[in-house]
Amino acid sequence: MSAQLLPQLLPQPASAPLPHRTIAVAAGDGIGPEITQAVLDVLRAADPALSFAPVTVGLEAYRAGHAAGFDRDTIDAIAEHGVILKGPITTPQGGGYKSVNVSLRKTFGLYANLRPCVAYHPFVATHHPGMDVVIVRENEEDTYAGIEHRQTDEVVQCLKLVSRPGCERIVRYAFDYARLHGRRKVTCMTKDNIMKLTDGLFHRVFDEVAREYPDIAAEHMIIDIGTAKMAVDPTRFDVVVTPNLYGDILSDVAAEVAGSIGLAPSANIGRECAMFEAVHGSAPDIAGRDIANPSGLLLSAVMMLVHLGRGAAATAIHNAWLRTIEDGLHTADIHGAHSRERVGTRAFAQAVVARLG
Ligand code: NAD
Repeated sequence: MSAQLLPQLLPQPASAPLPHRTIAVAAGDGIGPEITQAVLDVLRAADPALSFAPVTVGLEAYRAGHAAGFDRDTIDAIAEHGVILKGPITTPQGGGYKSVNVSLRKTFGLYANLRPCVAYHPFVATHHPGMDVVIVRENEEDTYAGIEHRQTDEVVQCLKLVSRPGCERIVRYAFDYARLHGRRKVTCMTKDNIMKLTDGLFHRVFDEVAREYPDIAAEHMIIDIGTAKMAVDPTRFDVVVTPNLYGDILSDVAAEVAGSIGLAPSANIGRECAMFEAVHGSAPDIAGRDIANPSGLLLSAVMMLVHLGRGAAATAIHNAWLRTIEDGLHTADIHGAHSRERVGTRAFAQAVVARLG
C-alpha cells in the first residue's frame, strides 16, 4: 500500500533537529477527548519537540456562557501558535448557539477546507480500490456565512453569500494544489443551472482561472449528478472544488465510499492560521467506550505536520499508521475480512507508536 495521502512530502535528513513548536489543542466533545488523547500519544512519541497548549472549545465553553463555543483565551492561543488541532464538537440544538467550526473558520479566515478521501484497499473494505480524491471546499461563504434571519414566526431566511474574491481564492488554491501534488484534473461542482447568480459566479470564475493552468484538465459538473458519480465511480475524480455546503455533504459521501468516515482527515487553511480536524463529528453514540477510530484525527495531525514543515515526523507517523492498518489491527468501524484483531482507541494508538521505527 502506498502512502497516497502525502505525495507532497519531501525527503528530509533524519538527523536535522526540529525546532520546538507549540500547538493549540481542543479535545472537543463526545469521542473527542479519547481520540485526541490517542493522537497526542502518537505525536509525543514521533516528535518530542512538540508541546501542546490545551484550549476549551465546545460544550464546556457553551456552558460557561460563550455562545460561539470558545472564549478569548482560545482565540489568543490560536493566533499565538498559528495552528490548532481540534477534536469534534457537539453543537447544541436550538437558537442562540453558533457552530464552533463555522465561527473559528470565519474568525481566522480559514478559507480552504482540504479533505482527502483515499481507499486503503484491501485492508479497509471499499468498492473502489483506486479511489484517491481531494475535495477542496470553500470554507467561509455560501449559506454557511451565518446570515440567517427570522422574518416572522413562520418564515425564516438564510442568505447565500458568494463573492468573486472568495471564488478566485478557492479555485486558485485548488489548481495550485493540483499542480504542486502532481494531480491532473480539477472538477468544479455547482448548481448553477438553478442558482444562476451565486453558483453561476463560482462556475464562471472557475472557467477563467482554469485557463491559467493549461497543464491541468478542468471540467464542471452539476453537484447532484457529481455526488451520484462520486458514490458509484469515484476513481474518475482527482481534485474537486466546490462551494461550502456542497463540499460538506460531498466529502462525507466520499469518505464513506473510500472506506469509513472514521478515517477521513481535514485541514482548514488560512493565511495566518490553520485548523486540523477529522471530518466526522463527536459520535455521541459511541463516546466513552474506547471504540472510536482515532485515524481521522491522526491523519489530520499528519497533514498538520506537513503544513508545519515537519515532514520527517509526518512520514514516520503515516508509515506507522499504514503498517498498523496492513497488520490488521482495526477499530470496530473498519473491522472486516482483512482484520486480524479488533482493537480499541488506546490500543490502536499504542500499535501505531510501536511501529514508529
Ligand atoms: P458523527 O460523524 O458524529 O457520527 C456519524 C456516525 O459515524 C455515528 O454512527 C458514529 O458512531 C460514527 N463515527 C463517527 N466518527 C467515528 C469514529 N472516529 N470512529 C468510529 N465511528 C465513528 O455525525 P452525527 O452523529 O451526525 O453528529 C454528532 C455531533 O457531531 C453533532 O452535534 C454534530 O453537530 C457534530 N459534528 C461536529 C463536527 C466537527 O466538530 N467538525 C462535524 C460533524 C458533526
